Amino acid sequence: MPYIVAIHAFIDNYIWVIRDHCHAAVVDPGDASPVLDYLEQEKLKLIAILNTHHHNDHVGGNAALLREFTVPVYGPANESIPTVTHPLKECNDKESAEGNAYIPEFSLSLRVLDIPGHTAGHIAYYGANLLFCGDTLFACGCGRLFEGTAPQMVNSLQKLTDLPKETGVYCGHEYTLNNIRFARTVEPGNQALIEREAKVEALRKQNIPTLPSDIAIERATNPFLRCDQPEIIRNASVYAGKPLSDPVSVFATLRDWKNHF
Ligand SMILES: [Zn+2]
Repeated sequence: MPYIVAIHAFIDNYIWVIRDHCHAAVVDPGDASPVLDYLEQEKLKLIAILNTHHHNDHVGGNAALLREFTVPVYGPANESIPTVTHPLKECNDKESAEGNAYIPEFSLSLRVLDIPGHTAGHIAYYGANLLFCGDTLFACGCGRLFEGTAPQMVNSLQKLTDLPKETGVYCGHEYTLNNIRFARTVEPGNQALIEREAKVEALRKQNIPTLPSDIAIERATNPFLRCDQPEIIRNASVYAGKPLSDPVSVFATLRDWKNHF
């Protein structure tokens, strides 16, 4: 079985490496140089690139990696990423080629989920208890709505929340501590959140990634997945200055509040 390693890029991006003792696939290589350094240091051969969405901090390293390695590049069919060789989208037929990224060296099949909201064609890769979700679901937070709408994002997050609770969540950025600060403002009575904050603070003090997260802890602590909780509805209503009831309005209010937090 392959295992997963984080490579730091830019200020707070993670490039995820799926690897065994001689092969590596990378998810969202925004920058090629830390990836090339890692491959050389570990004596690994690159075998695939997977992109979740078109933002440059997720795809900017594709071209330079392709100058060194000829590999398939998987990416969203509904976004324009010039280096993508295998455009993918969610398919009803769960075995179909266009709905899966298959990495034969690892016998690993990752199913594609369409999760628009952060960008219009954003996809996630899910399989073997791993979820690579780019900038859609973050640990204790979610991505900004650059191209999509609140109802789309609520739907996309619900799709991810419905995955098995032990699914490992590998997202694109180390935003966890800041996200928890916001979550505690929105839902101060959540005991699981208080415990999570202490754990995350200890990890960050040692500069250890707070990821992967998992679906169970996100369900328990991520305010953007908890828009039906009375305390969150109450506080979002105070922020909005009017009573809110439906989950999409609560979500949209939280997203706006977080943007100004
Ligand atoms: Zn992004």
